[in-house]
Amino acid sequence: MNNETHSNSVSRKKKQERGARAPVDLPRIAAAVREILLSIGEDPDREGLSETPERVARMYQEMFAGLRTDATVVLRKTFTEKYDEMVLVKNIGFESMCEHHLLPFFGKAHVAYLPNGKIVGLSKLARVVEILSRRPQVQERMTEELADLVMRELDARGVGVVIEASHTCMSIRGIRKADSKCTTSAMRGVFQTHPATRSEFMALIQAQ
Ligand SMILES: [Zn+2]
Repeated sequence: MNNETHSNSVSRKKKQERGARAPVDLPRIAAAVREILLSIGEDPDREGLSETPERVARMYQEMFAGLRTDATVVLRKTFTEKYDEMVLVKNIGFESMCEHHLLPFFGKAHVAYLPNGKIVGLSKLARVVEILSRRPQVQERMTEELADLVMRELDARGVGVVIEASHTCMSIRGIRKADSKCTTSAMRGVFQTHPATRSEFMALIQAQ
């Protein structure tokens, strides 16, 4: 790592990943959903739709809860440990919202790192995946954010992330490819520089 990227990562470390945000404005979402219903020619006051705007507002509050949670804090409680082999958490399920269509995409994340004296509770990696997914997202960025966060907060020797997801914006609209899956990966440190480490990671993911 050169000096410039090193000092950047140190100064970023002191910052919170997400600043304080105003709470979700539920009435505003509900009013907007009512407008959408009117715009498609529906009657938002008919029985089946009368509570829909408020229901959708609460759903969005839940789906976007990750906007108000700082994922870096989750990784700050580390343990000093001599273990220096690969740590891998496979098949972390997640549900996210594609920011281009506001439609769900969901799948599995696989996260591995090579510790550098610091390890983190395994459930914390799953928690970070959850926080990053509960935001308007694109799969590619989520993959990179996850790798960068783990690399930075754990001072890891390397990080590998693979995400496999189904996008409903591809299955229910547009080209309608119901069975397609999108796979993205991000490699950092020795996962990038050592093909053997990357191969070990990929083999472990594929092993049942
Ligand atoms: Zn989309």
